[in-house]
Amino acid sequence: MQWEVVIGLEIHAQLATRSKIFSGASTAYGAEPNTQACAVDLGLPGVLPVLNAEAVNMAIKFGLATGCTVAPRSVFARKNYFYPDLPKGYQISQYELPVVHDGEVILELEDGGTKRVGLTRAHLEEDAGKSLHEGFEGVTGIDLNRAGTPLLEIVSEPDMRSAKEAVAYMRKVHSLVRYLGICDGNMQEGSFRCDANVSIRPKGSDKLGTRTELKNLNSFRFVERAINYEVERQIDVIESGGEVVQETRLYDSVKHETRSMRTKEEANDYRYFPDPDLLPVEITEADIERVRAELPELPDAKRLRFMEQYQLSAYDASLLTSAREVADYYESVVTASGGEGKLAANWVNGELTAALNRDGRDIGESPVTPESLGALVARIVDDTISGKIAKDVFEAMWNGEGEPDAVIEARGLKQVTDTGALEAMVDEVIAANPKQVEQYKAGKDKLLGFFVGQCMKASGGKANPAQLNELIRKKLAD
Ligand code: ADP
Ligand code: MG
Repeated sequence: MQWEVVIGLEIHAQLATRSKIFSGASTAYGAEPNTQACAVDLGLPGVLPVLNAEAVNMAIKFGLATGCTVAPRSVFARKNYFYPDLPKGYQISQYELPVVHDGEVILELEDGGTKRVGLTRAHLEEDAGKSLHEGFEGVTGIDLNRAGTPLLEIVSEPDMRSAKEAVAYMRKVHSLVRYLGICDGNMQEGSFRCDANVSIRPKGSDKLGTRTELKNLNSFRFVERAINYEVERQIDVIESGGEVVQETRLYDSVKHETRSMRTKEEANDYRYFPDPDLLPVEITEADIERVRAELPELPDAKRLRFMEQYQLSAYDASLLTSAREVADYYESVVTASGGEGKLAANWVNGELTAALNRDGRDIGESPVTPESLGALVARIVDDTISGKIAKDVFEAMWNGEGEPDAVIEARGLKQVTDTGALEAMVDEVIAANPKQVEQYKAGKDKLLGFFVGQCMKASGGKANPAQLNELIRKKLAD
């Protein structure tokens, strides 16, 4: 039997507001446990939640960037359940009327095609606290700092057909929320996390199979692995005559397996009802237009602009626009180089990215500024140095030896373009290789490369290859 994989993701993006969604308590990460949860976050008697307007603006931003409809009126509801990290006994979320709904995300596939993933909805809710297991013996610690932190839960349609597509979708949303500045995207700290709903069905069927929901996926790699593991497991279950049970499963990244956590609750288990302490959220056309005016250039638009403005391939442009910091860095390099879009792209996607990866740094921590890299590119273009020598200069810049001109000067790397000096070099090489000269003159044109290579070697890589080419050709034509 041929199986088709069906995946829908629920992404939780922590909104980058300074204070919580219904209180003034700080959302800063890493404080001493239980120092940042106030009476409102704990739901103590007599308190009233007040909605953080900035969280609503951020949700509208996301909605506009994904072609969603922004609801003129949405409603907060209480989702009731008991858990130690939720002392209130309910989470404030949105249920029937989410703040934005019915949008889409377009993925670029490796084969150059595109794929549309529908967004069912994105709703606002508060986060719960955290259970702490490490460092406790026989008990569990509870840290309520995270309680009340604003989340945007982004729910996709079950449109993805492989673990790879799910990861591509997740990366796209990750890039988008960071462009929009509504989430820092830090997955280690849990600011961006996802639950994956996975089912399989016979190929060609249009009925959905029974799904399981995988929790605890806090890296792109784990999402891919957990889904692949789960697909294999479901195929095994069905092919050995069993049935997939709708349940929540936990991914164990150490053992690389998913384990049953609990059978899936139905919505009516949560006894959702509108929160009587909060008014419906009213969003006017004017509100929407105000937010629209604040939107930055989005990744898709930027990618197309880069292709057009700098004559880049789709591949180069998508690498450069995957994160806003990279795109900004690149454009500063172009400016500093005097408008060398293509060469600047090669350097940012090539040497710079390799060096960053090698040292495990973010682009914001690059020891080479975009202005310096642009200056280096300019020195290649004006023939001060060759592209090959430029790699040595780059290494030196990376290691703190200073600006490109200073490195070129200090190391004597300036390209030899003086015709007299080059001519002497060529004469020497011709004299030293009579056999090759004979073969060349007999028609073996390919040997030109050999002579250029010998001269380059003799010059320590500093000779200008274009000039050499011409000189050698002329000399051997005599
Ligand atoms: P819940 O709120 O109980 O988690 P939803 O109906 O809101 O359930 O769906 C959650 C996610 O599960 C959505 O992303 C949806 O696309 C996905 N989903 C629903 N049914 C299936 C299925 N049969 N296989 C895979 N994903 C599914
Ligand atoms: Mg769910």
